[in-house]
Order: sequence, then C-alpha cells, then structure tokens
Amino acid sequence: MGKEPKPQVKKMQKGAKPYTFSTVEGMADILPRDQDWWKLVLQLGNATSELHDFNFIETPLIEEAGMFEEGAGIAKEFVEKHLFLLKTGGKERVALSFCPKVSVLRSYLEHRLAYFASPLKAFYMLPVLKKTRTKEGLRESHEWGFQIIGEGDPIYDGEIILAISDFLKGLKLKQLMLKINSGGCRVCRPAFRQKIKAYYRNEQERLCKTCERNLETNVFALLHCEEAECREVMAGAPIILDYLCQNCNNHFKSVLELVEDNEIAYEPDAHLLPINDYGMRTIFELYVPELRLPIASGCRFDYLAEIFGARVTPTVNGTLNIERVIEAMKLQGIAPHPRTKPKVFFVVLGDQAKKGALRLMNKLRSSGVAVVEVVGKKTLKAQLKSAERMNISLALLLGQKEIFEGTVIVRDMTSGAQETILAEKLVEEVKRRITK
Ligand SMILES: [Zn+2]
Ligand SMILES: [Zn+2]
Repeated sequence: MGKEPKPQVKKMQKGAKPYTFSTVEGMADILPRDQDWWKLVLQLGNATSELHDFNFIETPLIEEAGMFEEGAGIAKEFVEKHLFLLKTGGKERVALSFCPKVSVLRSYLEHRLAYFASPLKAFYMLPVLKKTRTKEGLRESHEWGFQIIGEGDPIYDGEIILAISDFLKGLKLKQLMLKINSGGCRVCRPAFRQKIKAYYRNEQERLCKTCERNLETNVFALLHCEEAECREVMAGAPIILDYLCQNCNNHFKSVLELVEDNEIAYEPDAHLLPINDYGMRTIFELYVPELRLPIASGCRFDYLAEIFGARVTPTVNGTLNIERVIEAMKLQGIAPHPRTKPKVFFVVLGDQAKKGALRLMNKLRSSGVAVVEVVGKKTLKAQLKSAERMNISLALLLGQKEIFEGTVIVRDMTSGAQETILAEKLVEEVKRRITK
C-alpha cells in the first residue's frame, strides 16, 4: 500500500457553513485501500459456498424487534441492551439487523423453504448492527454465514464447521484453533443448570457484582466473567459433559469424529455454552493466536422455530466475522494479490474528442481490455504523467484531428514510440500489443 493520501480540506470561504458530517462512532467505511482484502474474502466466500452447495439468501436490514427479543429468553437483557430500535411513524416496533441467523430462520418458515430444499443449505453476507461500547468492537460488522435448516443429524454440524474451515484455510490463515462444546438439550440441560447454580451459590461471596446479579437469571453468563476471582471460582465449576443425556452425548461424539477425520485442530472448551434459550448441542468458536476474540463461531439452535410458533426445526449455523478475518490476515502478514493492473491508458485532448473516446473505451472494455483515463486533466503532459505513475505500458491518444480522420495514436510508454492506426482496428491492435 502506498502512502496515505492527505485528506482534502478546502480553504473555507468566509461565512460558509463548515463541513461537519462524519461516520457515527463505531461505524466504519470500507475504503478502496482495503478492497483487495474484501474482494478476496467475498470471492472465496462465494467459491466455498458453491463447492459446499449452499444457496444464497439475503434478509432485510430491518426486522420486527420482537423477533430478536422473544427468541432471546434468558439473554433478554443482552438483547435489550444491544438492539438498535428504530423510531417509525407507525405502531410497529422495528430494529436493525441484529442476528442474521435468526432472520434466515424467519425467512425459511415464512416462505416454507422446506419445499425448496430439505435440508436447506443457505449462505449470506449481511451486516450486523449492535449497540456496544466501541472498545468491544465495531457497532457495525459484516457476517458471512452458513446455515443448514431441516436436519438434526450431526453430519450437518460437521458440514458447517468444514465449510468455515475451508473458507479460512483458503484465505491462507494459519494456526486455526476450533474450540467446541455441547450445550446439551431440554432433557439434560436443566439438571446441569441446577448443579452449576448450586455450586455458584456456595461461592457467592467471592463473586463480582455482575455475576451475583446474573446468578439466578442467567448462570451460564458467569462462565464468561473476566474478573480474576470469578475466574478462579469458574475453574472448579461442574462441566456439562458430565451431565449430557445419551442423545446429546452421541451427537457430540459424532461431531468430534467428523472434526478429527478432517484434520481440524480442536480443543474441547467446557465453558462454551449458549447464552440464550434456543441454543442446543453443538457450539463452537474459531481462533487464531493473534486475536483475543474469535474470528468465527457457530451453534445449533433447534428450539428457536418453536419460540416463533412453528414446530421444532433443526437448525445449525456457522458465521465468520469478516472484519476480524481481515484483521487476522493482516496480523499474519497475508497479502492478497493486488488486482490486475490495467494495461491501457486513454489520453483525450479537447472536449470534442471526449465523446468519441468514450465510445472507443467502451469498445475496448466490452472486449475485455481494462482501460483507465483521467480526462478531467486538461493537458497532454498531465495525462501522460498519470499513465507513467500508474506504470502503464500502452497509451492511446485521441484529439480533434484523430476524430476527424478516424484514427488513434498508439504510444509505447516505455520507448516513447508512436504510431497512428485506424480507429476501427483499435481493439485488434491493442490486444495484439498487450498480449505480446
Ligand atoms: Zn441432552
Ligand atoms: Zn464475575
């Protein structure tokens, strides 16, 4: 990457209104200087989705707020704190895209997508908007998600993990570590919840204020507390694996076998548990050593459909946080191939030549030749200088005289040699020269 360009600040005229708008705190523009990373991620995401047979889906940026709130259950407080509610003129309560996997399930049920494919394998690239303290990360981030709906077989949990792992390996990310656990189910989780509650009640005086408050309402949240004393208490807490029912146990074993068979590095993480009511069985996160937060995560959440008023519908999802993936690539020194540099530069002199130039440029572009120009620059010298700076080997010159004669001047930028050719032969001639 070259030097950062200086921001363009114009001298303010007396009495003029100062320019005041900027991105809202926690939001970020994705700028051209990062395009090589973004394009690579998006291209690889599409290629991986196609190879693994996932179908594209996109849900709207605005959804009913209740959809995110009702599903949350014990995580209600978390959702209320982070949901971006919108003020509208009407009675409806709406919120910004908060959890795409929930929206995708809503779409599946609403459009009866079970008739389209069973199971439905869907992928999406959607923004997520969360009210959050900015030191915890951006308020807006982008998720690339894979979701399989309609089948509870552990092979689908494995497929999700494999798709994500292939995606990240395709980006050349190294030292990936999968942390994985089972969150149990309705049969086995309540007993475990009672056990862990009883354990924490015994240690109550050692807990921080937040943990003390969460103890009765959302005891699993205590496993994520970062206070030193709470972490010590956590080390001795009972683990869910000792309480899984037979079905959950078999499911977890099968998923681990699939992970092992496919040589994905993993370690079980007993403290990884769903913080909502609808998560069950498989739950995972993927890390690289350079980042504290996971670059991808996923879970199974068969119960959410029921909360929405439908039948229990097996659903498993895995999601990459694109911003963190790109950060990890940069930290690991992975440079994407820059896009292929255009080989042809069009120099246009005089207003009359512009129209003819656009027609010729378009002809070249339609035949697959990338062309650049800076026709806003008036002089020949300034335009040629730009071509030099961009390291372009071939320049085409068009002025009033050439328009009149139906010709174009072809200039070899290295040797400076020029030749006049017929405009109708242009595409043929340019292709011959740039493939030489
Ligand atoms: Zn169970
Ligand atoms: Zn605590």
